[in-house]
Amino acid sequence: MVKRKIIKINEELCNGCGNCISPCAEGALALVNGKAKVIREELCDGAGFCIGVCPTGALTLETREAPAFSEIAVKEHKKTQNIDYIPQKCESCGRSEDEAYMIAVKYRGESLWYCTKCLPKLIHG
Ligand code: SF4
Ligand SMILES: [Zn+2]
Repeated sequence: MVKRKIIKINEELCNGCGNCISPCAEGALALVNGKAKVIREELCDGAGFCIGVCPTGALTLETREAPAFSEIAVKEHKKTQNIDYIPQKCESCGRSEDEAYMIAVKYRGESLWYCTKCLPKLIHG
């Protein structure tokens, strides 16, 4: 066990929308009985990419004692599990994260994804 950053899920706030599952590159999150759950703590690297897409504010990072993040565990987990890879698409141009870097943006309670090419239009427009 090490002291490190790890995701914290507020089950009362979680509405089970599933938005947070695919942004997690490690596949650390899954829906269990309609609520987001960390499958195994060594799969969560504490990067927090899931936080921006949660519409209810159910996700935060906390610093506490937890099993160390493990790249090996992630590799094995991805191999054994058939994680459906659903690439995020840019809200503006429709390109997918296979073609461009994506950034999650919050707007009026919604989480939208924009590619880095389209982001300046949002900032300046
Ligand atoms: S994005 Fe938020 S509300 Fe949706 S499943 Fe994940 S934790 Fe729950
Ligand atoms: Zn775009």
